[in-house]
Amino acid sequence: MTEPVRSLTELLERSSARRFLRAAPPEDLGLAEHLAFPFLAIVGQEDMKLALLLTLINPVIGGVLLVGPRGTGKTTAVRSLVDLMPDVERSRCSYGCLPEDVDSGGLDAICPDCALKFGAGEPLTYPDRVHLIEIPLNARVEDVVGGIDERAAVHNRLRLSRGLLARADLNLLYVDEVNLLADDIVDSILDAAAQGTFHVQRGAVSATYRARFALVGSMNPEEGRLRPQILDRFGLRVVVRGLEKKQHRMEAYRRAVAFRTHPRAIHSDYAEVTETVRQELIEARQRLASTQLAASAEAFGLRIIQELGVDSLRAEITLFESARAHAAADSRTTATAEDVRAIAALALRLRRSAFMEDYLQAQAAEDRRLLRLTRTPSQRTGAGRKLRTK
Ligand SMILES: [Zn+2]
Repeated sequence: MTEPVRSLTELLERSSARRFLRAAPPEDLGLAEHLAFPFLAIVGQEDMKLALLLTLINPVIGGVLLVGPRGTGKTTAVRSLVDLMPDVERSRCSYGCLPEDVDSGGLDAICPDCALKFGAGEPLTYPDRVHLIEIPLNARVEDVVGGIDERAAVHNRLRLSRGLLARADLNLLYVDEVNLLADDIVDSILDAAAQGTFHVQRGAVSATYRARFALVGSMNPEEGRLRPQILDRFGLRVVVRGLEKKQHRMEAYRRAVAFRTHPRAIHSDYAEVTETVRQELIEARQRLASTQLAASAEAFGLRIIQELGVDSLRAEITLFESARAHAAADSRTTATAEDVRAIAALALRLRRSAFMEDYLQAQAAEDRRLLRLTRTPSQRTGAGRKLRTK
C-alpha cells in the first residue's frame, strides 16, 4: 500500500487483494479483547462493501438491506464497519443539548446548565468513536423506543428510559434478521431512520429523541419474507451470495483461520489502510455537498426507472443520491451516467411488488436485464468492470 491512492473505490479494490499469510505461532488469546475482522480484509463481496460505504458517505440514501443466506459474511462486514466510521461529536448533557440548537433556537433551546457552559465558551460536545447498536431478535417495542423507567416508578416518579433507538443516535444500527422482527418494531425503526428523531408517549410522560443513525438490515429469505412496503424503505439492497470462485473461497478460509489465531497481528496489519479509508470517507462526505448530477445522469436514471416500471419515488432518491456518493468516493464533483450505471442494481432491485411473489427468481431476471441495460461498449466485448472481483 505504498502507491498513492486516487480514490476510495480504488483503495477498496486494492486492499481486498492484499497478501494475507502468517506462519507465526498462535497468539495467546487468554485475554478477552474484542477485535472485529477488518472490513478491508473481506474477500470479494464488492457490492456489499460498496453499498455500506456509500450509505456512510450520504445518509440520504436511507440505509442498506443485505439479503442472503447465512455464512456469507453479512454480520462480519457490519460489525467491522464501525472501525471505518469517522468520529462524531456527542452531547455532554443528558438532555442532549447541542451547539446547533443554539444556532436555531437561541439559548432557550438548551438546558440552563448548558446555557451557562455555552456562555462561558465551554464545549457542549466531545468527539467519540461510533458504536454498533444491534437490535436483538427478542427485543420488545419498549426496549427499542423506550418506556417507563421502572426504577424511577418505584419512587413514584414517572420517567422514560432511553431505548435502543435513542442509544443509536450518531451510531450504526444493525437489525439482523429484520424479516423476523415484529411489524411495530420495524416500523418504528424505519420511521426514526427517515426522520432522524422519534417521539415516545407513555401516559402523561412524553419525550422526543434524536435518532440520526446509519441503518443496516439483513435478512435470510429462506426464513421469512419482508413486507413489500418495508423492503421499499431500505435505500440500497444487496443480494449477498456465497463466493463462487474456488480460489476466493480458499482465500476467505485462509483469512478466517489467520484471524482466529492472530487477531491482533491481522488487526494491526490493517490499521494503516483502515485509517486511510476513514480519512477518505471524511473527504468524500465533504465533497458530497458540492457534487452535482450531470443532466445525462438524470436522463439515464429516469429512463431505467421508467423501463423497469418502478412506482416508488424512493427509487429516484436512492438512485441519484447513491450516484452522487459514488462520484464523491471517486474524488469527483460531477456524478455522470457511469455513476448511475455503477449503482443502479443496488438502488433499484427488489422494488417492484411483482417481484415479491417469487422474488429470488424474479430478482435474477431483473439483474440480467439491468446488466444488459447498463453495460458499456467495452463490457459488451468482455473487458473488466471498474470494481472488478479479484
Ligand atoms: Zn444540556
